[in-house]
Amino acid sequence: MFKPLDINENEENKTAQPADVEKVKCLVLGSGPAGYTAAIYAARANLNPVIYEGLQPGGQLTTTTEVENYPGYPEGVTGPVMMEDLKKQAQRFGTDVRWGMATKADFSGEVHKVWIDDSKLIEAETVIIATGATAKYLGLEDEQKYAGGGVSACATCDGFFYRGKDVAVVGGGDTATEEAMYLAGLCRKVYMIVRRDVFRASKVMAERAMKTPNIEILWKHQVKGLFGENNIVEGATLVKNLGEEGEEEVKIKIDGFFLGIGHKPNSDIFTDYLDTDEVGYIQTIPGTSKTKVPGVFACGDVQDSIYRQAVTAAGSGCMAAIDAERYLSEKHA
Ligand code: NDP
Repeated sequence: MFKPLDINENEENKTAQPADVEKVKCLVLGSGPAGYTAAIYAARANLNPVIYEGLQPGGQLTTTTEVENYPGYPEGVTGPVMMEDLKKQAQRFGTDVRWGMATKADFSGEVHKVWIDDSKLIEAETVIIATGATAKYLGLEDEQKYAGGGVSACATCDGFFYRGKDVAVVGGGDTATEEAMYLAGLCRKVYMIVRRDVFRASKVMAERAMKTPNIEILWKHQVKGLFGENNIVEGATLVKNLGEEGEEEVKIKIDGFFLGIGHKPNSDIFTDYLDTDEVGYIQTIPGTSKTKVPGVFACGDVQDSIYRQAVTAAGSGCMAAIDAERYLSEKHA
């Protein structure tokens, strides 16, 4: 009457059909402006999006204070409030917002598989990757200590607060030179702290920075720490010629300390299936959010090494939802 228990068969079944599997039409990964905008559009197009917020719910904007360059907020808005508003707007149209982080992906089949927190498996017809990028920090304790008191990794976001003041930018790549030039238009003086005696930045950007009168380049300098009262930056301690003849400690007085040593796109779990550039930014078909895998789309900072703004991320999130909707209607036509 009963089929004898076959332990091996049950083991196989367990692997083939994990208990916690869910099928969804549209899975959005990441909860910055790109992810929430994608969710708003996808929800309004009846794609019933499920969004996983990731490690930092609300994304990078939740680490900034005032956002003054996002259109529609004439008085400005704080990053956390803006992200809460975007979340509520996505929920208003039925987005299922969940806590959790994508830890593994398999885009080899027609149904796209994404594991959440190494346990739950989502099988999605469309996946919108909006996992963002993380600004790199030097790893100094003082970066934590003075966070919110003069340390920033985004000149476009925070430069305005340092009008007429002296600031420093760490790094010698395109990000640092771009940040330094942006800040030079607002600040009295901008120090660029470059660890080697050459820029990594493109020639044209490097020349522009070197020709800007209120940018002073501190070649072969590295940051040792920051100082200031009440967790407000008043200066930085640098080391010139570290480990070489002529090594010396140098102090500069600054009000703002900007990191420009690069970003790391959060794309590691997708790189077996999607094309990325050498830094890890996901490559999309120009003018679209489409990756090389049909049904998988990317938007926001995970695919944008150039603009990296909340408003451009939101715009690309909208594109991703529209591309997903069109993909599904063609598939089910
Ligand atoms: P990069 O990796 O090109 O440059 C990083 C810079 O930071 C280098 O000068 C590096 O020094 C320095 N750096 C890294 N770690 C440290 C550290 N621990 N201490 C001190 N200095 C450090 O990153 P970017 O973000 O500048 O650029 C990334 C990519 O994005 C590039 O391809 C760039 O061209 C592109 N980009 C393009 C822009 C545009 O076209 N408008 C704007 C911004 C970026 P070192 O050279 O010694 O390694």
